[in-house]
Amino acid sequence: MGKPTELRSNLLPIAYYLSPACAALRGERSHVTMRANFTQENMSGKQLEKTYEPKQVEDRWYRVWVEKGYFHAPLTHPGEPYTIVIPPPNVTGSLHIGHALNNTIQDILIRWRRMQGRNALWVPGMDHAGIATQNVVERQLTTDGSSREQLGREKFVERVWAWKKQSGGTIIQQLKRLGASCDWSRERFTMDEGLSKAVREVFVRLYEDGLIYRGERLINWCPRCLTALSDIEVEHEDTKGKMYHIRYPLADDPNTALTVATTRPETMLGDTAVAVHPDDPRYRHLIGKKVRLPLTSREIPIVGDSVLVDLEFGTGAVKITPAHDFNDFDAGERHKLPRLAIFNHLAQLDPKGLKAAAVEEAVANEIQNLPVGKARPKVEQALKSRDLLVKTEDHRMALGKCYRCKTVVEPYLSPQWFVKIKPLAEPAIKAVEDGRIRIVPESWTNNYLGWMRDIKDWCISRQIWWGHRIPAWYCTTCNRTAMVEAASSTSSQLAYTFLATAKPIVGRTAPAQCPTCKQKEFVQDSDVLDTWFSSALWPFSTLGWPEQTPDLKKFYPTSTLVTGLDILFFWVARMIMMGLKFMSDVPFRDVYIHALVRDAEGQKMSKSKGNIVDPLHVMEQYGTDALRFTLASMASPGRDIKLAEERIEGYRNFANKIWNAARFILMNLDGPRETVPPKDRPFADRWILSRLNRTIQEVSDSLEQYRFDQAASHLYQFIWHEYCDWYLEMIKPSLQNKDSAEAKRTRQTLVETFETVQRLLHPFMPFISEEIWQTLPHHGDSIVTQPYPAASLEWDAKDTESEFAILEQVVTTTRTGRSLLNYQPGKVTTAYGTATDPAALNTLQKLTAHLSHLGKATVQLLPVAQWPAQNVLRLIVGRLTVGIAVEGDVDLRKALERVKKQRDENAKESLRIEGKLGNTEFTAKAPPEVVAEHKQRLQALRQEQELLASSERQLQEMMT
Ligand SMILES: [Zn+2]
Ligand SMILES: [Zn+2]
Repeated sequence: MGKPTELRSNLLPIAYYLSPACAALRGERSHVTMRANFTQENMSGKQLEKTYEPKQVEDRWYRVWVEKGYFHAPLTHPGEPYTIVIPPPNVTGSLHIGHALNNTIQDILIRWRRMQGRNALWVPGMDHAGIATQNVVERQLTTDGSSREQLGREKFVERVWAWKKQSGGTIIQQLKRLGASCDWSRERFTMDEGLSKAVREVFVRLYEDGLIYRGERLINWCPRCLTALSDIEVEHEDTKGKMYHIRYPLADDPNTALTVATTRPETMLGDTAVAVHPDDPRYRHLIGKKVRLPLTSREIPIVGDSVLVDLEFGTGAVKITPAHDFNDFDAGERHKLPRLAIFNHLAQLDPKGLKAAAVEEAVANEIQNLPVGKARPKVEQALKSRDLLVKTEDHRMALGKCYRCKTVVEPYLSPQWFVKIKPLAEPAIKAVEDGRIRIVPESWTNNYLGWMRDIKDWCISRQIWWGHRIPAWYCTTCNRTAMVEAASSTSSQLAYTFLATAKPIVGRTAPAQCPTCKQKEFVQDSDVLDTWFSSALWPFSTLGWPEQTPDLKKFYPTSTLVTGLDILFFWVARMIMMGLKFMSDVPFRDVYIHALVRDAEGQKMSKSKGNIVDPLHVMEQYGTDALRFTLASMASPGRDIKLAEERIEGYRNFANKIWNAARFILMNLDGPRETVPPKDRPFADRWILSRLNRTIQEVSDSLEQYRFDQAASHLYQFIWHEYCDWYLEMIKPSLQNKDSAEAKRTRQTLVETFETVQRLLHPFMPFISEEIWQTLPHHGDSIVTQPYPAASLEWDAKDTESEFAILEQVVTTTRTGRSLLNYQPGKVTTAYGTATDPAALNTLQKLTAHLSHLGKATVQLLPVAQWPAQNVLRLIVGRLTVGIAVEGDVDLRKALERVKKQRDENAKESLRIEGKLGNTEFTAKAPPEVVAEHKQRLQALRQEQELLASSERQLQEMMT
């Protein structure tokens, strides 16, 4: 790097200096410095290795980028901030393909904005991942023959920190491997000191505002993790179950009975009422009477309830079990029914609870301490023997499972902490409705709004040890009675959680003395906060809040949040609520929601299916840039991504193609260069500059619209087909004569265009673009900090592009003819050409040299009448006619077969596309660009059919 050469400067087109990116960079930075920077042209003088070896390139450059501080966003940077906060991966995490997609997209945005001159900040960090991390360390303890209970809380938490220090955060290294250009000097962890302070501050303020409360409620309980879960931490799975129809005899008339249906007969022991519909003529007269609850000595009331009972479905009578079912809990509230908890926190039948429920002794003895599932057949048996089971039938139902350990969750009555969410949700709904936050793709907006309008209070307490401990304390004197009761509870570790009657004192620190009794002894609430509580503060806590830091002033609100749909409610919605509440402003302007990555067949990737694509393995095998480009190219809005390994292989080939182009260019740069305005350059140069210009525009527009797939497609089409296949081929003859004016100008164009291509490509393929860029004549130290290409009017040459279209058509037709005649690639033949319109003919005349070179033919432009009468295969496409000399031992019969075969294939393909386009389902649902692509393809096929038809006639004539 940095070796001055004798090559001429003035390498970059004027537009480069005038681009908005440059203007931003110029800002307060000295103009002179920028210029000075550009007066010296660097070139490594180094040639590229024969093949591209990603591994050798990637590590090296990543280290340099970090060492030089290119990813750091200084407060003094004059550019407008562009900020992204990373969705913090779990500290237990390891990079999976979803992370790879998520972070590739973020890195594309950040690198692109950085090159545009914005003060681009990507804040990295990790989440402490409460339950997930606790589970990992608990498993380790089990292996060691220990347990967290044996260690005790304090030692256990120490052990988790030790684990984090040693093996946590693998994923950070993997993100670096992916090329993520995060500002590592600002890396945060949701449990670090600053973020913990933010958590306490938010908790206390919400409590003081009456938005956090403690109460005995029914929550989702995981009997394995022994903790409450929020509604969205429960996964519902369709399962085969049974519906049990049970007779409940009337207390005053045992011969008459109501039949209730339930999927969980064991919960009937906790029933405290039966509901019928108040408008049901069969039963409404029974409202106010009582039934005798089977297997117990209790009589429970019949109530009228139009919410719980649906007239159209079921038996017309519904049991109410307020302590074990969410709907019943609400019904219990409506009718002021007692809550009878008959399970304990392990979801076993609790002897105490069974006693309170007045369960017949024989039954209670048999089922006590059994898990609910095992108790079910025994209860069923008991009902059967008393002739109270009317029938059972198969029944499909959604079973709730813990999202961490897949254990069936149990609705469980316990004192928990909640966030009163409606007052926070209202402003968050408004922010999306009035466009202060834009959700991309827009179609997800309704999902967000629907969920937010129907939002339920958020259960934020978790009965685990790893996490932010709830800043609430209980005075041991004032709560003596409750504490004695808790001490006798079956589970001492949960003691304080179960103090339903205890009065908490909430504060930023432990209270000095009890405001009621002035005593100074307290115990802290044993619960920790839901992991998502701290990540909800991520956009401002990472920037220093509650301190009013310069970072916070400069970078909040952030610009874009990139996330998967799966955490829209867990995380995104909560960040919006918290941001609006505590910063009085939205946390981000745009939320970009990407699709989920599935396997090639569209199946969810899972270990059990063995269809996981491991990004680390892919990077190892194909290179990081190939993986990144694949993911970007598939990131179309709102759909699942079907990832096939061949795609990645294809983009590895793309990287190789770019590499080979670079080698070709470097080998041809030897010699003087001359800079003249584009209009004075050779035809091929004018054309490629114009095409590049359009590609710059298209890529930039696509990025503005978060269409990474389209941006990737424009890059791919341009580089592979136009640049490598056409342009580099077209200029070969003129480069032969090194000192010609044409060669000098073309060499200059080569440098300008290829250097620009590297910058255009850099956000997608950072490693190969840097490696190549460094070997080309360039200005500056690294491509990372170079301006992103901006479209320039000066490069625009529409006329040249239309001329090229004619050239392309003739060359393609010539090649088709050659292959029909089975000519070897090296064979030079004679070709004839003519056009019906004079302008096209004129173009052909101008471009004869290119025609000859690309078509491997001596070209004669003559009216058809002057072509040889025999042995010329005539091909007609639109206004152009091309003739190929039939010479040597051409087998006309075989040529005719090839034509027919091709026509058949084309006809089939045309039919298939016509069918699709005729299908309204397809045209209505497919994105417009896909429909347009299909139409284009059909058009091309029809043109080719025309050409094949004409050659078929020709060949038949020749054979007769
Ligand atoms: Zn669990
Ligand atoms: Zn007290």
